Amino acid sequence: MKMSYDPNNIFAKILRGEIPCNKHDECDHTLAFFDIAPQAKTHILVITKGAYSDMADFSANASSGEQAAFITAIGRAAKLAGLEEGGYRIISNTGKDSHQEVPHLHMHILGGEPIGPLRAS
Ligand code: 5GP
Repeated sequence: MKMSYDPNNIFAKILRGEIPCNKHDECDHTLAFFDIAPQAKTHILVITKGAYSDMADFSANASSGEQAAFITAIGRAAKLAGLEEGGYRIISNTGKDSHQEVPHLHMHILGGEPIGPLRAS
């Protein structure tokens, strides 16, 4: 069952300017900023400005313009951070089995160093 969007989540507060972030990039539909607890040398979060709780919500309910802007923003943020040559990983945790902590759609971009296998063995 899908949970409704919680407007008090930490990324909604960042979007409203109620708490600061280390901004990396922005467009009409997205904001990119650096993760407060980086899991790699470079760890960027790309979020939607629209109120979507996760990828399930976004893929079902966002406009095609919002969806295109999100994908474009992820590639642009990685390029701006200089990650294209070395490569990078993108991850979007969705729902309880994924260990999603912040219930506002976000894509993690991890890179700047070798970041190992997809899952620790
Ligand atoms: P999730 O587990 O939901 O996929 O990832 C949430 C991410 O948000 C975590 O990597 C965490 O470090 C990051 N995070 C949580 N609170 C803040 C914050 O206030 N500012 C920033 N920049 N990142 C945050």
